[in-house]
Amino acid sequence: MASIRATGTKPELAVRKFLFSKGYRFRKNVKSLPGKPDIVLPKYKTVILIHGCFWHGHKNCVAATIPKSNKAYWKNKIQKNMERDKRNKSTLKNLGWKVITIWECKLKNKQSFDRTMVKITENYKDIHRV
Ligand SMILES: [Zn+2]
Repeated sequence: MASIRATGTKPELAVRKFLFSKGYRFRKNVKSLPGKPDIVLPKYKTVILIHGCFWHGHKNCVAATIPKSNKAYWKNKIQKNMERDKRNKSTLKNLGWKVITIWECKLKNKQSFDRTMVKITENYKDIHRV
């Protein structure tokens, strides 16, 4: 069973550490934005959301398997989370933010973590010229 999502959980820390080491500066858990995004890069008007696969209903992901007991309860709960995510994302986009979602399963091992982070930072190559 997935643990309850708290701020400053491990995958978030790893992503922050990586970004910081590459020279990115960011804000954490920005309360003034919808959904209190995990990581905000103000300079790039970009929001990075790190989604736990279970709580945010990652499609076709083993980590998002609904428990057999209380199935209806979990389904409903996760459905609501997904709807809220969708709403938050479209509000952010309407406010002019670029939204990047990282699923926790992509951060589990080093290889896929690196691949994911390279893909993200590729969008911001200009940082090296600043
Ligand atoms: Zn997943």
